[in-house]
Amino acid sequence: MDNLNLKELDKKNIWHPFTPLVGGVEPVMITAAEGVYLHTDDGRKIIDAVSSWWVNIHGHSNQTIAKAVAEQAGKLEHVIFAGFTHEPAIRLSKNLLSILPPNQSRIFFSDNGSTAVEVGLKMALQYWYNQGIPRKKIIAIDGAYHGDTFGSMSVGERGIFTNPFQSHLFETIFIDFPEAGREEHILEQFCELIEDGDVAAFIYEPLVQGAGGMRMYSASLLNDLLTEAQANDVICIADEVLTGFGRTGKYFASDYCLVKPDIMALSKGITGGTMPLGVTTCSDKIQEAFQTDDFLKTFFHGHSYTANPIACAAANASFNLLVAEECQQNIQRIASQHRAFASELLHHNAVATVRSLGTFLALEIKTDTKTSYENEIRKMIYPFFMERNVLLRPLGNIIYILPPYVITNEQLQEVYTVIRAFLDMLER
Ligand code: PLP
Repeated sequence: MDNLNLKELDKKNIWHPFTPLVGGVEPVMITAAEGVYLHTDDGRKIIDAVSSWWVNIHGHSNQTIAKAVAEQAGKLEHVIFAGFTHEPAIRLSKNLLSILPPNQSRIFFSDNGSTAVEVGLKMALQYWYNQGIPRKKIIAIDGAYHGDTFGSMSVGERGIFTNPFQSHLFETIFIDFPEAGREEHILEQFCELIEDGDVAAFIYEPLVQGAGGMRMYSASLLNDLLTEAQANDVICIADEVLTGFGRTGKYFASDYCLVKPDIMALSKGITGGTMPLGVTTCSDKIQEAFQTDDFLKTFFHGHSYTANPIACAAANASFNLLVAEECQQNIQRIASQHRAFASELLHHNAVATVRSLGTFLALEIKTDTKTSYENEIRKMIYPFFMERNVLLRPLGNIIYILPPYVITNEQLQEVYTVIRAFLDMLER
């Protein structure tokens, strides 16, 4: 089939995510990808500066991961994970536990970030149920995004993503976003909420709220919140779907805090963007509530593709790349490039705020309307960058870069140059 026919079929048959059926952008046909580049059918090379929805930490078509996937596919492609097990999953559990915070002790598999969160919420609620203790309330942070399933939507910001489902979402208590300068107020608000002893869990994106606008907050405040939560027996669920696997400069954002979460949700970077996989981990405290011979206290949750061996093999290969010296140096190199560019941008008249942490760089563009996902300037940003062969997907008036760790300094500078050009154009 030629590309024209393919595109027509796409238009007719396929429903793309987060894309209106009328008036959405025409999808670009990608024929291959390598390192930071996406190759289009019309011969362009686009820098993927957002790692294809933040998954692609080692660059595209990484040959080490591809080889592991091919070998595994030829040996054992899948097996039901209830009553059976396999080496790639066991090896992955060992690998993950070797870099996770030391209190994490058990690994549960699913297939994406939303399900990893969903599993975390269910584990926390059943932790209380199994002990016959009626704790049900859940606290989350204003502006959070935890995924698109009903549970993960329920603990996320209510807005355009959730409006049609509002009446079907469970109640969640939202604390204010922990903005710098408001730490004392947030901590007080949090303590008041948990002191009655009926809060089951606190779920949070540690240090960086992703889809909510790449907003960042301090590790010291998070540490205080976790200290209070655990002193009041509130289960802490770290959603590290975005921040995990080196994104913030450490393996996990939770590594910046002394107090560790009880449950963690992981996905995105886990397979280097090669295969879908979600993982939820928990501490001894959580799993002990399930260690009983009462069959009715079993965690009755599972997915057909739970612990898919090919996905686990991809994750093991990605893990080996992540812990290697070269990758760790790349992460620090990107972080230092971002810091330098961030301090330059601070002085730009078109920029309201700029922030960076590890491989994240985000800048908020000054506009006449408020900062939000719906901010109209987004319609200008995406095509401006695509015309210059850089893929950046703004969150309203927030532009952010979250590149694969293999991006070179020269490629990063190319992205920065296009950002400068965009900002200069706004100033004129
Ligand atoms: N949690 C966070 C922090 C995320 O950023 C996302 C996705 O962007 C999710 C959960 C949901 O992950 P998925 O899109 O794989 O379902």
